[in-house]
Amino acid sequence: MQPSRRPAPSSWCYASQLGLFGAALVAIDGSKFKAVNTRDRNFTAYKVKRRIEQVAEHIAGYLQDLDTADRQEGQAAEARAGRLVEKIDRLRAQMAMLKAMEAEVEASPDSQVSLTDPDARAMATSGRGSGIVGYNVQSAVEGEHHLIVAHDVIMTGSDREQLASMAAKAKGAMGVEALDVLADRGYFSGEAILACGAMGVTPYVPKPQTSGAKAGGRFGKQDFVYQPDQDVYRCPAGALLRRHMTTVEKDMTLHRYWDRASCTGCQLKPQCTPSIERRITRWEHEAVIDALQTRMDLAPRAMRVRRRLVEHPFGTIKAWMGHTHFLMKRLPNVKTEIGLHILAYNMKRVMAVLGAKPLMEAIRA
Ligand code: SF4
Repeated sequence: MQPSRRPAPSSWCYASQLGLFGAALVAIDGSKFKAVNTRDRNFTAYKVKRRIEQVAEHIAGYLQDLDTADRQEGQAAEARAGRLVEKIDRLRAQMAMLKAMEAEVEASPDSQVSLTDPDARAMATSGRGSGIVGYNVQSAVEGEHHLIVAHDVIMTGSDREQLASMAAKAKGAMGVEALDVLADRGYFSGEAILACGAMGVTPYVPKPQTSGAKAGGRFGKQDFVYQPDQDVYRCPAGALLRRHMTTVEKDMTLHRYWDRASCTGCQLKPQCTPSIERRITRWEHEAVIDALQTRMDLAPRAMRVRRRLVEHPFGTIKAWMGHTHFLMKRLPNVKTEIGLHILAYNMKRVMAVLGAKPLMEAIRA
């Protein structure tokens, strides 16, 4: 791999040059970093609506108090009425600001406005009921020397759309033909898994348990076995559910399988469905999901390896940053800031693996 073909020199160029990318395996993860923008200076449609309701309640309360004060006489009542008028004026000004903000939030593509750093976004974090205003930093850490081979910063809290793009970045940075990628269930997306296969990437991503039937104590989809030679599902009672119809939802072609005759009078029906018959949905590319599940079953330690690889770098970088917010505002500047932290992280890793001298020689070469 020639560093000169890269857009800009960075630690992974030298790491690659030094032959440090041995294992064609990366773990991908995202972590939320705070922006220079407090929660009070971030507005979502919900927050603005709540604030408008609260301010309206306060105004109504003060107007009532003002009526009472007006009915009373004396200097104290007059002074109180004056203070109430001031408060009401302040709240009305606040209401006007909130109404303007409501229109601004509505016009924003993602229904959100941040005043200090306009690119910062409110995001949920793994902590219960907690959230930050910040950025979602994505990283791919390779398996042998734990170097960060690719990173990105995004303005959405969800990792769901990031698997294929991060895998492509990591694969390009490592210059390998095939790559195994580990990611948590937040990255699970049928389209992304399909896209990974098309570019020589083998993903290991647990499937989220979203089955309402399973949650309700009934058979989940995993209890139905697909028989590719006949294009049918075998249900827990042994009946074969045939394909009856095909629909397109969110650009995904979905086939539906059922067999009403078998379900009618089936002994297992209470454990299966409250409907007339149980229907199973199959995406046209579901074979890639089946293959993924087989891989996951054969690699029970995959998620432990993922955690070991990818969580340490984020912890280290956040500690270096003093567990505080970014220093820069706006997405391009934040990308540069985190890029420098990652460069420093990788430099330290390379020095730990090889020593400073070979690294200096590689930089000079
Ligand atoms: S209810 Fe229908 S799908 Fe469910 S186990 Fe019985 S026959 Fe199979």
